[in-house]
Amino acid sequence: MFWAGLFALLLLAFTAATGTLANADPLPRERQLSITMPTTRVNLSAKFGETSSYWGGLPHSGLDFDGATGDAIFAVAGGVVKEVGMRGSYGRTITISHGDGVASMYAHLSATEVNVGDQVFAGDRIARMGATGNASGSHLHLEIQLRGVPTDPYGFLFAANPGRVSDPPAWACRIYSC
Ligand SMILES: [Zn+2]
Repeated sequence: MFWAGLFALLLLAFTAATGTLANADPLPRERQLSITMPTTRVNLSAKFGETSSYWGGLPHSGLDFDGATGDAIFAVAGGVVKEVGMRGSYGRTITISHGDGVASMYAHLSATEVNVGDQVFAGDRIARMGATGNASGSHLHLEIQLRGVPTDPYGFLFAANPGRVSDPPAWACRIYSC
């Protein structure tokens, strides 16, 4: 009984120690965020990496969700609001930091409903859809960024095991410097 108890205690201490090490790992792929869709109705209109003269010949840096001006936009994962404001062709944007260099950016918004420094949870309403910046119509441009470089949001949201951030592809590393 004593030895069994001691063994259980040692096992517990070992698990606690390795658990702490795992949490200290800065690699975001070690973490899995719990996620929510950014719009109520999911109607994808442009994929990540698509090329079109519309984006100045550059591959598309996000995933587009079609919808109407005023549609609610939700945080895809929990985090802290890092940036709110106009960003050139992206129009009115919000960027949320999820830790470990992972961020989500929401663009072409008609209105924002959070401020820099706000803590948000997955599924919190943060903004309204719009067509600000370089947009042919009302839609959400969602970017998932790893250390500031866009990576494919599709797997992050729709994989069998969602919430894991993949490494940016080579073209994104060339354009945005990994
Ligand atoms: Zn887009």
